[in-house]
Amino acid sequence: MFSFPEKFKAKITDIVDLNSSTSSYMFEVVEGNCSYKAGQFVMLDFESPFEKSERVQRAYSVASRPNGKVFELCIERIKGGQAGTFLSSVQKDDVLDFKGPFGHCTLKDKESKQLIFAATGTGIAPIKAILEDLVQMQAENSIKVYFGMRYLKDLYYLTELKNLISNLKNAKLDICISKPENADHSYHTGRIQTQFDIESWDENTVVYACGNGNMVRDVRSKALVAGVDKKQILVEIFDS
Ligand SMILES: Cc1cc2nc3c(=O)[nH]c(=O)nc-3n(C[C@H](O)[C@H](O)[C@H](O)COP(=O)(O)OP(=O)(O)OC[C@H]3O[C@@H](n4cnc5c(N)ncnc54)[C@H](O)[C@@H]3O)c2cc1C
Repeated sequence: MFSFPEKFKAKITDIVDLNSSTSSYMFEVVEGNCSYKAGQFVMLDFESPFEKSERVQRAYSVASRPNGKVFELCIERIKGGQAGTFLSSVQKDDVLDFKGPFGHCTLKDKESKQLIFAATGTGIAPIKAILEDLVQMQAENSIKVYFGMRYLKDLYYLTELKNLISNLKNAKLDICISKPENADHSYHTGRIQTQFDIESWDENTVVYACGNGNMVRDVRSKALVAGVDKKQILVEIFDS
């Protein structure tokens, strides 16, 4: 069912640091409604920390599947950024303003198609929500998740992603570290774009790419070259 974006307020119930600049923010809706589909995003509406009378809006993908009034955002606080600065000062029990849901990066149907997910950094947020939905519906699709991060020290959601993958019948996780601090790791070294085996992609493949703009554009091009219908390539660029 399609949901129109609505204004709502949500209270921060927990903040868990995932690395030095990224945290998982847990929310509970306390006013209004937010019925979203896994993969959609909400707009955080806040007072600019630099220009007190100015309101600012920023998009954040929901990192958890729909579950009543609670939801999770996974946010990297960009140093010097409007939202980055604002979010550095929020704490548990603060109530924030939102509007949503928005976006079309959602599961299209339950058909047994091959699903390819590619995410860098917080681009994993909508993909985590979709994977949670796929586990819930006991999906049997062939699923491949590529998760890229620059440094080993910044990796997060490893336990969560491994659990989700192990609860799906036919899913694999491929972690790619583009600038590992050392060689002592079991992941692929390099950008995720270089890991794809696009030979297995075809008109029945649905591709989701979220996060860094260069990665998203490369994945989109590769998918088109592999013959994936452009309507089946769903992208969200976080750094515009
Ligand atoms: C559909 C959508 C979903 C998004 N979902 C998420 C999400 O789940 N988690 C999340 O952390 N972010 C997400 N973003 C990015 C988010 O909306 C903000 O752009 C980001 O948090 C920076 O906002 P800011 O106000 O702190 O920075 P700004 O004040 O807007 O910019 C400050 C500086 O940082 C640069 N910058 C802006 N965004 C980024 C970025 N993402 N990475 C690196 N540099 C940047 C700008 O070019 C500028 O130089 C999403 C964006 C879109 C469009």
